[in-house]
Amino acid sequence: MDRRKFLELVAAGAGILPFSQVGTRVSQRQAVTALGPIAPERLGRTLIHEHILVDFIGAEAIRPSRYNSEEVFRIALPHLRQVKSAGCDTLVDCTPAYLGRDPGLLRRLSQASGLQIITNTGLYGAAQNKYVPRYAYAETAEKLAARWVKEFEAGIPPSGVRPGIIKIGVNSGPLSEIDAKLVKAAAITHQQTGLTIASHTGDGEAAMAQISTLKSLGVSPEGFIWVHAQNEADTQLHLRAAEAGAWVEFDGISSIAAQKHVELLLGMKQAGYLSRVLLSQDSGWYHVGEASGGDFRPYDFLFVQFLPSLRRAGISAKEIDTLTIHNPRAVLTVPK
Ligand SMILES: [Zn+2]
Repeated sequence: MDRRKFLELVAAGAGILPFSQVGTRVSQRQAVTALGPIAPERLGRTLIHEHILVDFIGAEAIRPSRYNSEEVFRIALPHLRQVKSAGCDTLVDCTPAYLGRDPGLLRRLSQASGLQIITNTGLYGAAQNKYVPRYAYAETAEKLAARWVKEFEAGIPPSGVRPGIIKIGVNSGPLSEIDAKLVKAAAITHQQTGLTIASHTGDGEAAMAQISTLKSLGVSPEGFIWVHAQNEADTQLHLRAAEAGAWVEFDGISSIAAQKHVELLLGMKQAGYLSRVLLSQDSGWYHVGEASGGDFRPYDFLFVQFLPSLRRAGISAKEIDTLTIHNPRAVLTVPK
């Protein structure tokens, strides 16, 4: 099925079906990396939420000239090579536009490291909207979605690199007007491209609000990732989101938070929901404005330390493949 046929199906109501059931043949699916589309089977072991570069200055003041991309390249490259040699094949860079997204730099780093890297489209409304550009208040959700769809179809200027995922961000619930607009824009973009929506989400209430907003717009929760779900203390909400079909992302894995994440995973395993869970570290990154980019947290903890401790806790090798290969592949697969 080609993309047009697929979109016709979506328009006819198939948008409520999970993508895995729409019936696209393997050869007609792709995952979009910074070096171009690849067969989803080539994604391999994937870190679904990391950062290479972040600038927290805010949407009004951010400029590419605020950092030296050669210095970022030199500092980030050894970390990318290190995680590749630890067994990682693909890394999703979740830094949105107006927070330091630099797709051309990602492409160069992918070429140099051999690691597949994926960038995103969308806007980040969390953090009191500090990273929302003024035009996003004036424009409709449809207009914002048209910008994001154009990035998917024509590439992000000036690099021409295409996004492989939608990244938005919302504060804690209930959804503010601008947050609700970003969710709607993401829904429209998802319907037109097949890209999955990863949303930095303030709390469980905001996660549930997004899932119901998406449903009301005809988007299956399977197209939605609850990013930073580990920050919600009520684990019943993780189960409810998974039951609805959404992806529940535990992405704060680090040496100090490892045990908490093991327990979260054991809870999801017990409930039978490991097939809805994503794992990552939210690690990195070059901090623009700090000397030599400040403290760069390596990407390899998950492979070197965390996965072995999951095995010891009773998660099987097959379940680890589900978490690190099959689930990210389902998230990153879009129709051609
Ligand atoms: Zn992040």
